[in-house]
Amino acid sequence: MAEPKVSASGDEELQEHRPVGFEDDPSGVVVPEELSILPLRGVVIFPSAIVPLLISRGASLKLVDDCRKGDNILGLFTQKNPDDENPNAQGLFARGCAGRILKMLKYPDGSVRILVQGLKRIEIREYLQAEPYLRARVAHLQDTYTPSKDLDALQAHMVSQFAKFVSMVPYLPDELQGVVMNIKDPGRVTDLITSNLNISVDEKQDLLNSMEVRTRLEKLSTILSREIELVELGNKIQTQVQSELNKNQKEFYLRQQMRAIQKELGEGDTRSNEIEDLRKKIEDAKMPEEARKAADNELERLRLIPPESAEHSMVRTYLECLVNLPWSISTEDNLDILHARQVLDEDHYDLEKIKDRILEYLAVRKLKKDPKGPILCFVGPPGVGKTSLGRSIARAIGRRFVRISLGGVRDEAEIRGHRRTYIGSLPGRIIQSLRTAGSNNPLFMLDEIDKLGTDFRGDPASALLEVLDPEQNFTFADHYLDVPFDLSKVMFITTANYLEPVPPALRDRMEVIELAGYTEEEKLEIGKRHLIPKQIKENGLLDTNIAFEDEAILSLARSYTHEAGVRNLEREAGSVCRKVARGVTEGKTEKVIITAAKVRELLGAEKYFSEVAERTQEPGVATGLAWTPNGGEILFIEATKMAGKKGLTITGHLGDVMKESAQAALSYIRSRTDRLGIAPDFFENCDLHLHVPAGGIPKDGPSAGITMATSLASLLTGRPIHSNLAMTGEITLRGKVMPIGGVKEKVLAARRAGITTIILPKRNEKDLEDIPANVQKEMKFRFVETMDDVLDVALEPAAIPVDAKPASFPQLTVSS
Ligand code: ADP
Repeated sequence: MAEPKVSASGDEELQEHRPVGFEDDPSGVVVPEELSILPLRGVVIFPSAIVPLLISRGASLKLVDDCRKGDNILGLFTQKNPDDENPNAQGLFARGCAGRILKMLKYPDGSVRILVQGLKRIEIREYLQAEPYLRARVAHLQDTYTPSKDLDALQAHMVSQFAKFVSMVPYLPDELQGVVMNIKDPGRVTDLITSNLNISVDEKQDLLNSMEVRTRLEKLSTILSREIELVELGNKIQTQVQSELNKNQKEFYLRQQMRAIQKELGEGDTRSNEIEDLRKKIEDAKMPEEARKAADNELERLRLIPPESAEHSMVRTYLECLVNLPWSISTEDNLDILHARQVLDEDHYDLEKIKDRILEYLAVRKLKKDPKGPILCFVGPPGVGKTSLGRSIARAIGRRFVRISLGGVRDEAEIRGHRRTYIGSLPGRIIQSLRTAGSNNPLFMLDEIDKLGTDFRGDPASALLEVLDPEQNFTFADHYLDVPFDLSKVMFITTANYLEPVPPALRDRMEVIELAGYTEEEKLEIGKRHLIPKQIKENGLLDTNIAFEDEAILSLARSYTHEAGVRNLEREAGSVCRKVARGVTEGKTEKVIITAAKVRELLGAEKYFSEVAERTQEPGVATGLAWTPNGGEILFIEATKMAGKKGLTITGHLGDVMKESAQAALSYIRSRTDRLGIAPDFFENCDLHLHVPAGGIPKDGPSAGITMATSLASLLTGRPIHSNLAMTGEITLRGKVMPIGGVKEKVLAARRAGITTIILPKRNEKDLEDIPANVQKEMKFRFVETMDDVLDVALEPAAIPVDAKPASFPQLTVSS
């Protein structure tokens, strides 16, 4: 609020700021009827008020001079327009105040200062002269009022208002409150208060004009309320501004202090360093626009979040993840096919057909220069080299290699990540592996896609589909990342033990390459050339410490492992090496030659041996061949018979198809009793039981049909089955033998088990070409079309007449 114009000039600008003095009632002074009129600018003088005035206008100076020479009394009238330099009669308000000059001071510049005191209200009746200054005849005015309680109350209220006002503004001395309280006359009180208020000239003039004291009181009271309100409002604003200022200042001050403390502690500007660091990393990552925008936004957010909050670390981790992705880092492909061939040969023995397929695939990629090729899928039992082939391809073409095992992945989020709203959320495996690979075109090996699960947490297969689909994967959206990443340059290779469980949509995208398993000879070569040198090296040995004889390797493959691949062979060779290594550290320096006997000495007794001959000694036990995801297996089917009535029990954890196959086998036997020499009514008073040991392992499929029929026929005729013979084939009710799958795996498994003759369906004859020549030479294959042919080949001639010894059918114990 501006300072009040309490001490204004007579005809000049206001000059001093000090409260208007107030003398005791000067009414005793006689005011003549004719007065010289001093025009006032911006000031209204009330009776009793003592006001200093600066006089500088020529006419006014003369007036004052003349007045001083006379009775010192003059008329003080305010100009209507303060800018009027030479006001005439019309330029002044009609009512004013008679005044008396108390003092006069002359200044060197010619101006004069006078101290005047207001005497009483007067009104101009008539102007008498205009030059050199105005003179007029005036009428004296009297306040009019009727004393009343009402008026007293009004006066008291106004006085308290003024007291409050004085206490609120700094420019009015507190003494004024006392002065005002001691004046009894209501008219004088209003004049004193009005003189001290900083209100407009018009308002003041209005209060001077009104002779009715009550009106004056009311008007002034209203003005006072308004002024108090204004001061209060002003103070409030002031306080608010002040407190805001104080807060900011405090914060600033504390921050400065903190910075100083950090500096003292040597922590410096870690925070700003961190932000700057991230900003640089974002710059260097050369992200595509969308990702860059997201990163910039997050960085901005990080700047504002206090470092202690959990959100800070979340945003930070996210940013770290973003900047560490290989957005623009890729490796150069080496598509030199000769080089690739060389690398594949170095790493893997044989596998000619498969290597050819891989090289063809690379050749097409080279010519087409289009990354959208089919996805290779290696299918085969464990340990046949699927993963290591992938690694070799990566090495051959110079790409980084990453392997993701999908076995047991049930949650879509494992592929695609969790949304960032979850605490501790992470990107999916694809994005994590890319980070590990450090290039945006690595070779991704997706292992065990046949073990992918599906449950309530979403379908990982569909997420995988998006990863593998070249039409979609250039904008792969990880939930955590929230911005697309281009996977189109990644080369995907998948592996599976068998294709059955792979969702058809996924299967469609892939070019399947099958790896069936190795023969003993192949295992020997792989062992000699790759596995054993590798194990020798890995166990810290030298060729001067150890050497394996072929017999030893074969013994490891035959008697210590039971597998289609070579994983366990490698492991067993590793244990032999470890034992030798231990000897070397204990000071045995001479070279250890590993023979078959030495293997037994080091690894203990053989773990696997052929039980075929032993199991099939008695009638009712037939050897079948099965295909499993781990390669081929031999399985025994046992039949037994007991007193009863037409019952067939089938046990051994068999699937429906296999059970139905058993029914079909029995029906066939019952329809052929005459040809087999079995009593036609044998089933009237007996129960049959078919069991496939290793009951813990689920088995299914129709390919054991002929084996079950043979086992029943053997039981019922009492003719044992040739011991070194195994069979596989589906049976129809009419005794036809239908083709089956997995011939190579089954043949290799049979050979491992010491079988020499295999009965196969005639229509599988073409599959023999997949079987290594030496195996074909070594083994006898009998291709059959009917069940009669099977029994002719499988059963030994009858030793005992069936009818003569019906009670002697052996009761076989069930074993696994
Ligand atoms: P998979 O992925 O099929 O289960 P791996 O690739 O893990 O099998 O192979 C197991 C081990 O056998 C690896 O050390 C691999 O190098 C070796 N291996 C498999 N096949 C061959 C082969 N034909 N020549 C050389 N080493 C082989």
